[in-house]
Amino acid sequence: MTSQTSSDCLFCKIVAGEIPSDRVAETERSIAFRDISPTAPVHVLVVPRRHEPTVGALAAASADDLADVFRLAAQVAELEGVAGAHRMIVNTGPGAGQTVFHAHVHVLGGATFTEGRMV
Ligand code: AMP
Ligand code: ZN
Repeated sequence: MTSQTSSDCLFCKIVAGEIPSDRVAETERSIAFRDISPTAPVHVLVVPRRHEPTVGALAAASADDLADVFRLAAQVAELEGVAGAHRMIVNTGPGAGQTVFHAHVHVLGGATFTEGRMV
């Protein structure tokens, strides 16, 4: 099987429209939708349509898809009014809190971020 889609993957099902999501933007290569359990006033997930388990695997598989994810993430920050104050977070591996093994970027904004503190 190729890694383009994975039948038991939650985000592949959201990409396919089999599971509903609150989409805020999309491109030919990526989609952006609101996190179901937001941890900031703006909390949007940007995911490639292509299934790869991590952002590193996505980078290895397709530089175009990787670039598109981050381009869309920047557009989402603009659309949501947080272009000047947001974080893009990528959790990689269970030890870092990754729970969905389809590459994605969290775009977080509207919260007070403390300078110099990542977590
Ligand atoms: P991570 O922990 O980095 O793998 O992020 C996975 C994110 O997916 C979490 O923030 C979840 O709240 C979010 N999530 C899980 N199920 C859904 C869903 N059906 N729709 C939108 N977001 C979801
Ligand atoms: Zn997937």
